[in-house]
Parts: sequence; structure tokens; C-alpha cells
Amino acid sequence: MTDEHPKVLVVDDSQATLNLISGYLNQLDVQVFAASSVTEALALARINHPDLVLCDIVFPESSGYEFVDVLRADETLADTPIVLMTGVSALQDRLRAVNSGADDLLTKPFDKAELTSRVKTLLRLKKREDTIRRANVELRERMRLMSTLFLIGNQLRDSLDPADIYRVIREALTTIVGVKAFSIYLRLKDSVERFDLVVMHGLKDTAVPEQIELTHLHRSILSQMQAGKPFFHQNSEAKAPQLLEEQQAFLLPVFSTVPLISQKFLYGLINVHAYSGEGGEPLDFDLITLLSSQVAGALHAVRMHNQIKTYADELEKSERKLLQVNHSLERQMFHLHTLMLFSAQLHSTVYLPKIYDYVRDLAINFIGIESFFILYRDDWGDEHSFAGVADGVDIEPREISEAHYETLIPIVEQSGQSFFRVNPGSVFEPIAATHERMPVACIPMKIEEKSRGVFVIESMLAQKTTFTQQDYELLALLTREAATSIHNGHLHRRVEQLSVTDGLTRVYNRRYFDQSFPEEIKRSERYEHPLSLIMCDIDDFKKVNDEYGHLAGDDVLREIARRISTTLRDIDLVTRFGGEEFALILPDTTQDSALVAAERIREVVADQPVVYEDSHIQVTLSLGVASFPEYQMANTLIAAADKAMYLAKISGKNQVRYAQLLADDEDR
Ligand code: GH3
Ligand code: MG
Ligand code: MG
Repeated sequence: MTDEHPKVLVVDDSQATLNLISGYLNQLDVQVFAASSVTEALALARINHPDLVLCDIVFPESSGYEFVDVLRADETLADTPIVLMTGVSALQDRLRAVNSGADDLLTKPFDKAELTSRVKTLLRLKKREDTIRRANVELRERMRLMSTLFLIGNQLRDSLDPADIYRVIREALTTIVGVKAFSIYLRLKDSVERFDLVVMHGLKDTAVPEQIELTHLHRSILSQMQAGKPFFHQNSEAKAPQLLEEQQAFLLPVFSTVPLISQKFLYGLINVHAYSGEGGEPLDFDLITLLSSQVAGALHAVRMHNQIKTYADELEKSERKLLQVNHSLERQMFHLHTLMLFSAQLHSTVYLPKIYDYVRDLAINFIGIESFFILYRDDWGDEHSFAGVADGVDIEPREISEAHYETLIPIVEQSGQSFFRVNPGSVFEPIAATHERMPVACIPMKIEEKSRGVFVIESMLAQKTTFTQQDYELLALLTREAATSIHNGHLHRRVEQLSVTDGLTRVYNRRYFDQSFPEEIKRSERYEHPLSLIMCDIDDFKKVNDEYGHLAGDDVLREIARRISTTLRDIDLVTRFGGEEFALILPDTTQDSALVAAERIREVVADQPVVYEDSHIQVTLSLGVASFPEYQMANTLIAAADKAMYLAKISGKNQVRYAQLLADDEDR
């Protein structure tokens, strides 16, 4: 229905009535269609879609009621208001007319005023109804769009991938808004007022600039962007402006540019360059604006997400760094602590076997060394070496020795510089020129500025394949600690040895005899082993001194001590008991065996004169033997052996006697 001329269809088989009504209606500024039969009326109604039908009830071949039924059954005409006209105004007819589905009933003869006012009212109603219906259709369409937008919004919110967002906006713009060509520019760097092309549609690659500066936009677009408002080309008659103000290289008409703003931040622009209704229907600006705000929201979410991710990454990074620092500090603490413990342990003893035990434990269990040896030189020029091998490793400690490093060790000692193999995990390779082995490390041992030897790491346990700078420093520190301790241990051993050694003859002194003899008896008691004591005294030694001098006498003493020591076993103790007297302790030796040993000693002394300068000095020994368990106390044993020796003297010297159990040995 056009607002100006509502269409009214008048149906009556009487031409006179038709004329009459037409005459009345013409004054109402309506378009009148007249039909004289129901069939003709139906045909006219289907073509013209009248806004109102005035229809007679009585026709020769049918009735107005039938016409109402047909119209109501027709989808396109069902809403048409129908006024039935009748000559009879019986209540019955009136009711029937209303029940038939007609909207009103007019009784003939018509009063002009009544007819025109009824028609006016019904037309007004129809008009309002039409408006409402159309509004409803629009509303329904809006609803559909809104729910689509809602779905799009959900999709956008679900995605943090810009590619997804571009896909959704492309779909929405082309299918919902009917956009045929568009471009999206985004600000890829927060700080810059420059925008990069991220999506384009329906445009040639070459037609679109890759980047645009905000200030280069067409002035009418720019002013809107600066105000944070969308730009729309409202005037359908004027040409749409170009995207860029001065750059003619890109001819891009813009029907709409919508800023993508979220949280006051301009993310980018959506430009519409062509749309389906171009030239006629205007763009659905509201829809584009709505879409844009959703896209901006999604972009904002992406930005937030990326920012959070960056923060999280940085946090993780710094946390990892902290952990590393922490770890290395912990390692250092652990090393320091170990070093302290090791140092405390080492310095808690001067007993060499213990010291070497600690060093071995640390080298193998803490540092991860498989085999090593230590070469140590004492103040008296004696060399001591100690080799350590991890449990279960098939290396004989004696295979490890300085002999393999004849060139390397002197170099390390002289330079005072440690040698470290770069890759401790690799296998031994002989140094070609010297055929020497290459150790993992060779560290000099310096004590009080004096080189004392080296600490050589031959091989590492399989699990320890790399050395860090820290490992090297630790090794150097540990070596220094170990060196001091080993040095002290050796010094102590030397002092201890000196305190029990006779200075002239180098055999044990009287102090050592006094200390160890009772212990040896106790041990024999405990294990029920025999033990023998031989006392020997040089015969007529005074004469040697008198004849050859004291120095010769000293030399004789030294030589006798040497001959006794070499004749006896390692476990026997040779001690200088007094001036020219020696007491020999023979553990695990019966009286009979001791007599044999004593006899042999007598022989080795008597058979060969001692040569001193040009003199051949003949000396002999008198020996007395006493044994445990025959005698049980240290004193009685000594007294018995002494007595036996005295017997040898008085029997003519140069002989062996043993202690006989006599009646007066009561306190044995
Ligand atoms: P006998 O056969 O009875 O044992 O006669 P002897 O001369 O060996 O005995 P005596 O006890 O009379 O003399 C021991 C001598 O040994 C006296 C002492 O000068 C000498 N003598 C003791 N210790 C040393 C020593 O360290 N060096 C030297 N040169 N002589 C010593
Ligand atoms: Mg003597
Ligand atoms: Mg004597």
C-alpha cells in the first residue's frame, strides 16, 4: 500500500451501487477498483492487493460469504479488511456477517457520511496494521542479525588467534552486511600511528597500500577517526571519497571506515570499498559498527592475552634465571660445605692411613674420580706414592704410577701450573711423542712454597664427563688441603719414628722397647701365641773402642744392628736396649725357633769381621733366649733372657743360651 492512494475494491452485481460507492470514495482520495462478480473480484484482488474490500452479500451465482472465505484462505490476501454490504439489516444477518470473518457490515441504503467514515477508519487501521507488520518483519530480521552477531561475538571471544578473527569478520561482512570489497588495517606496534594491511577482500593486491599512516587518510575520514567515530559515505549521489588524501596511486573509494576501538585504544580500521547495494540501498551502518566493536573487543583480548603471555614468559624467564642462580649458589654452598667438612676431617688426624682414606673417599665419592695417585716427597727426599681406585673398577692400583707421566710431572712441578685435559670423558690417548698417558688432571702439590709432588687424576667415573671451571677450582682447593694434610701426616710419622728410633743404629730405641714389649706379650696372651725375647750383648766391646776408637765402635754397633735386622723377619722388632746390647722381640716364635734364630745371628756376626776404614774388626755376640708362655711377665722374661745371656758370657761368650726354668723363678 502506498501512503498516497489506498486501494479499495468494491464488489456488487448492481452497476448503480458500484457507481454510487465509487462516487463517494473518490472524494476520499482512494483508488477504486470495481467488480460485478465474485470471480472478477478475486482476480482483481490477486493483482492489486486492495487495502479494503467492500462486498455485497447477495449475488446470483454465489455469496459475499464465499468471497470472504476465499480471501481469508489466500495467504497474501488474508489480512485484507472486508466490509460486507446488505440490504437486510436483520440481527441474524449481522451476526452471520461478523462470524463469516468479515470486519464490518454496512446496510443499504448507504449513508454517505457513514460509509466514508467506516472506510476511513478501516483504511487507517489497515495502514497501521501494515506498518506494524512491516516493523515486525524488520524486527525479526534484526533479531536474526543480532543473534548472528551474537554468535559472531562468541566466535570472536573464543578465539585468540587473529587469523580466526579475520575469518569471522570476512564471513560476517560479506554474507551479512553484503560487503563486496573491504580492507582491514591494524596497528601492529602500539607506539606507532602506522597501520598494516592484515586482511583484504575483493580487491587486487596492487590496488591496496601495504601500510597507511593515520594522517594520510582522506580528511573527512581522518576527522572521524580522530574523534573515535565511524565514517560513512551518506550521500549516494556524490562520489565516495578515496581512502588516502593525496596518494593517487591507490584509487580506493571508501563507503565506510570504522575505527576498531576498544578500551580507548585504536587497534585499526575496517574500510568498505564496495557493497552489493551500491548506488541504491545504503550500507547497514549499524551492523558494521556493531561488528567492528566486536572485532575491536576480540583484538583487545588478543592484545591482553599476548601481554599476559609476555609477562608470564618474562616471569618464567626470570624465575628460571633465579632458579639457576639459586642452583649454582646451592652447588657452591654444597662445595664449600664439603670442603669445610673435608678440611675438618683431614685436619682432625695426623695419622697417614686415615688421611689417605679421607682423600680417597673425597676423590672418588665426591669428585667422581675413578683412579688417581698422589706423589709426595718429604723433607728427607723420600718419595711416597698413594694410589686410589674406585670400588668395583678393574684397575690395579699399582698400574697407576708416575712412571706413565715422566715428562708431564716435572713440567707441572716446575711450572706450578695445573694440567687439565679439556675433555675428561674421553679415553686415554698416549701423547704421541713421549708415549706417555694423558691424565685427566695433574695438579701440583705445593706446601710452604716448596713443590712436594703432584695429585694426578688418571680417569673419571663414567657419569662424570665434563669439568666446569668450578670443578677445577674445587679440585685445586681440595688438592691444597690434601697436600697440607699429607705433609703434616708424613711429618708426624717422621717425628713419631724419630721418637722411637735409635739415632745411631736406626733400630728402635729403648723407649720403644719399654712401650711395645708389654703390648706384644698381651697380644700373645690374647691369641695364645708364643713369643720369644733374645738379649744380645757384644763381647768385649770396650776393647773395640780402646783399640779402634769410638767412631769405629759406633760403626761396629751400626753394622751389628744391620746384620741382626736383615737376619730377622719384618715382624720382629730389633731394639737397642742399652750401650752395646740389643733386645730382639720375636712374635709368634717358640723358644726352639728363637734359639735357631739366635744362633743364626751369632753366626752372621761372628763369620764376617766388620770393616772400618782399613781395619777388619772381629766381633762376637753372647745371646740369651727366654720365651712366653714359659715366662709370662715382661720383667721376668727380660730377667730370664738376661740371665741366659749372662750364662753365655760366663760360659765363654760367642754363644747362645736359653733360660732354664729354675726353682728360684717363682714369680714368673
Ligand atoms: P763384656 O764382654 O763383658 O760385655 O765386656 P764389654 O767390654 O763389652 O762390657 P762393658 O759393659 O764393660 O763395656 C761396654 C762398653 O761399651 C762400654 C762403653 O764405652 C761401650 N759403649 C756403650 N755405648 C757405646 C756407643 O754408643 N758407642 C761406642 N763406641 N761405645 C759404646
Ligand atoms: Mg759387652
Ligand atoms: Mg754390656
